Amino acid sequence: MNYKKITLKPKKEESLKRFHPWIFSGAVQKKDDNLSEGETVKVYTAGGDFIAIGHYQIGSIEVRVLSFEEEDIDAGFWQKRLASALELRKSIGLINPQNNSYRLVHGEGDLLPGLIIDIYAETAVVQSHSVGMHEDRMAICNALKAVMGDDIKNIYYKSETTLPYKADLGAENEYLYGGNDVKEIALENGLQFYPDWIKGQKTGFFVDQRDNRSLLEKYSKGRSVLNMFCYTGGFSFYAMRGGAKLVHSVDSSSKAIMLTNRNVEINFPDDKRHEAFAEDAFKFLAKMDKGAYDLVILDPPAFAKHRGAVKNALQGYKRLNIAAFEKMPPNSILFTFSCSQVISKEAFRLAVFSAAAITGRKVRILHQLSQPADHPINIYHPEGEYLKGLVLYVE
Ligand code: SAH
Repeated sequence: MNYKKITLKPKKEESLKRFHPWIFSGAVQKKDDNLSEGETVKVYTAGGDFIAIGHYQIGSIEVRVLSFEEEDIDAGFWQKRLASALELRKSIGLINPQNNSYRLVHGEGDLLPGLIIDIYAETAVVQSHSVGMHEDRMAICNALKAVMGDDIKNIYYKSETTLPYKADLGAENEYLYGGNDVKEIALENGLQFYPDWIKGQKTGFFVDQRDNRSLLEKYSKGRSVLNMFCYTGGFSFYAMRGGAKLVHSVDSSSKAIMLTNRNVEINFPDDKRHEAFAEDAFKFLAKMDKGAYDLVILDPPAFAKHRGAVKNALQGYKRLNIAAFEKMPPNSILFTFSCSQVISKEAFRLAVFSAAAITGRKVRILHQLSQPADHPINIYHPEGEYLKGLVLYVE
C-alpha cells in the first residue's frame, strides 16, 4: 500500500529503536503535504531508513506506532494483533467458565496504541483514544469478528468522550455489530454483574480491579467492610462472598449506587449484610463513627488527569487517606488505590506515608498492587502502568 511519509530529525530515532511507541512533534523534521489526521504514515530516519509505521495525529504525540516492521496495516495486520492479544489472555487461563469479562486489548500494552477493547460475555466494547483508531474502527471490528468467531455476538463502539475534542469527529456511541437480544449478565471469577456499557462509565465495568478484589475477598471474613467509591460494587460482592459481617458501599453517584445494589442483589438476594449510600466520600468519612469498619477500600477516580494536576492530586490522596486512618480501629486493613497514570507508585506511596505520619498510625504494607495481566505494560512504554494500590495493616 502507498502511505504518506514523515521524516525525523537527526538522532530522533533512538527511542524508536528501543520500541517506544510514540513520536513527539518535536522529533519530526518534515512531513508530506495534505496529511489528514488519523491516516497511517510511514516514518523514516533523517538518513532515509524506514523506522516505523503508525497513526498520524495533530498534537504533542504526532505518531502512535503500530509496527516497527515495514508492513501494511490491512485486515491481516489487525487480525494478527487481535489474535495475539487473545492468545495471551487464553494462555494465562483468564478466559474460563467462571470468568468471561476481561480486557482483550490494552492500548500500548498490546502494541495497539489508542485502542481499548473490553469483553463482557458475548459483547465487545471498543473504545478509541486516537483519531487513527477511530478511522480504522470498521477494520478493527471485522478483525474482531474474525478472531473471536461465535464467542461474540455484539460489538459496541463507545468513543464519544475519549477522542480528541479538537478533531471534531462527531463519533457516536453505537452497535457496529449485533445489538439485539444482548446477554446482560457477565461473570467475574464466578460472580455475576451487569456491565452497563451504554450508560456506565468507561466501558461499563472496571475489570482492572479483578485480582485486587480477589485478594480483598480473602481478607473479608468476619470483617465490617466499607467500599468507598464503589461504582458498580465490585469489591462489595467479593467481600460478601468472602464472609464479611457487613458491607457498606458508598459513591457520590446515585446511578452507581443503583448499579451496586443490582449487582449485589443478583449474587446475594435479600442479603441484609449489604447497604449502599449515595454520598460524598469526604462527608461520609468525616461523620462516620470511629472504628465502624475494620476493612476499608478507597478507590477514587483519577485525581490527576495530566501532569499539571499532580501536586493537587497528591494532596487529595493524602487528605483522603488521613480521613480513613483517623477512623480505622486497631488491627484493621486498608486497600488504598490511585488510578492516575501520571502519579508514580513512589509518589503515591509517599502521599500515603504522609497520611500515616500525620495521623500517627503504625502502618505496615502487606501488598503492593498493580493492574492485572489483561492490562499488560509494554516494557518499552512504562507510562502504561497506571493502577497503583497498597494494602495496609493499621495497628
Ligand atoms: N472501585 C470501583 C471503581 C471506582 S471509580 C470498582 O471497583 O469498580 C470511581 C468512583 O468514584 C465513581 O463511581 C465516581 O462516581 C465516584 N466518586 C467520584 N467522586 C466522588 C466523591 N467525592 N465521593 C464519593 N464517590 C465519588
